[in-house]
Amino acid sequence: MALDTLKNPSLFQKQAFIGGQWLDTGKDFAVYNPANGDKVADVVDCGRDETDQAIQAAKQAFYEGWGQSLAEERHALLMKWAQLMDDHREDLATILTTEQGKPISEARSEIGACVKTTSWMAEEARRIDGEIPPTFKTDERYLVLRQPVGVCAAITPWNFPASMITRKIAPALAAGCTIILKPSEETPLVALALVKLAEQAGFPKGVINIITTNDSSSVGKALCESPDVRKISFTGSTEVGRILYRQSGDTIKKISLELGGNAPFIIFDDADLERAVQQTIGAKFRNAGQTCICANRIFVHENIMDDYTKKLKEAVEDLTLGNGLDEKTTLGPLINEQGHKKVSGLTKDALDNGAELVTGGENSDQGKLFFQPTILKNLNTDMKIFREEIFGPVAALYPFKDEADVIKQANDTHYGLAGYAYTKDLGRAIRVGERLEYGMVGINVPVVSNSAIPFGGVKQSGLGREGSHWGVEEYVELKYVCLGGIDD
Ligand code: ADP
Repeated sequence: MALDTLKNPSLFQKQAFIGGQWLDTGKDFAVYNPANGDKVADVVDCGRDETDQAIQAAKQAFYEGWGQSLAEERHALLMKWAQLMDDHREDLATILTTEQGKPISEARSEIGACVKTTSWMAEEARRIDGEIPPTFKTDERYLVLRQPVGVCAAITPWNFPASMITRKIAPALAAGCTIILKPSEETPLVALALVKLAEQAGFPKGVINIITTNDSSSVGKALCESPDVRKISFTGSTEVGRILYRQSGDTIKKISLELGGNAPFIIFDDADLERAVQQTIGAKFRNAGQTCICANRIFVHENIMDDYTKKLKEAVEDLTLGNGLDEKTTLGPLINEQGHKKVSGLTKDALDNGAELVTGGENSDQGKLFFQPTILKNLNTDMKIFREEIFGPVAALYPFKDEADVIKQANDTHYGLAGYAYTKDLGRAIRVGERLEYGMVGINVPVVSNSAIPFGGVKQSGLGREGSHWGVEEYVELKYVCLGGIDD
């Protein structure tokens, strides 16, 4: 198995990490490789007791030092962690692909994103400063301090099982918070490897804790209901986001939610068609279509529909399905049977209701979790596929005639994460950029995520932002200190 050949075998961890100790619970759950169904590892299954221990460890670490640590210390440790990730990029990417399935080239880029985010946040640690507003009385002065929120919890998904972790942990630590991470049960191994590197970087005991579990609802509830946890940051489905939001109400927690999307990808008839086709491939088929900013509804102007469809079909038929560890693979499997069922179900529903199949449409002979890259056209807004997040390699094409009309259709959803438009008309680019009701808009560009920008959604796609200095704000509380008696 690929994980037997890691250069640093200590990254293949299967235990939880609480208060600086790797520990067993006597219970395990299995992690499988979605490309071939092989068992990759048995990982420790934590419950409420370990969750409580982790909360106490994080609380102790916060009050006994990390909460008052120097920015330079936090900067140096985060930089060291980023460097270790970079040094072990190949091992981390191999672990990631083995448990998640994405092509190894995408896994390497994801680890690259972890390195960038962590070093960016190391720099932000140095700039969490305050303000001294003008005084209202001659014998008073005011200080506005930006202080760490306290103990935080991060619940992360399987689709970007490494970068969704650093996007939460790095700003939390930069701000001086301590953290408990609960990774997805589908992909705990790369999370454990990242935490192993954090241990090697030298973060004090209890600053980072990881609880692996197959019972995410009990662990999630314990984290939400604990008054000691001051903040929850979650990336995952809107459905689970709603549960966590409700459960956090009683303790009035700060909460960040990065939830589902239903991204419109609009191609006007004045667009650079080659560019639009090529970038549809990235926007739709990266990670086998399992990203929350994926092009979910591709609106194509009727004048270019035939041309676009023909070119897209050629590009799609060039994709190579297979095990992500094979360098030639450009499209991996879906994560599990539930994901596969959803993608095949939405495809079948569209076809039963009059959609036209351009290519694909069925399971691939590569294995039971592989779905052929698919294009469906002649879709309409009454179909299930218009409302639901596909989370699979299915390009759904909707024809349109008119700018105002397509914006209305694009906004006709409860989601609001990312939206895209292709046009060479500057005025139209500005109008569409302003009118799409999304947290992020890409004009002539499919990928909008990097460390410098505030990533996040509006409507039922979430609350709060990740990345950039705005991302750090999510882990900071403002405090006002009034100093009196200053006059002679
Ligand atoms: P997806 O549909 O993409 O798998 P989920 O929202 O189900 O996304 O999962 C994202 C993360 O949320 C995972 O870590 C998963 O274990 C966790 N999770 C799922 N259900 C709950 C829950 N009821 N409480 C807390 N965490 C949960």
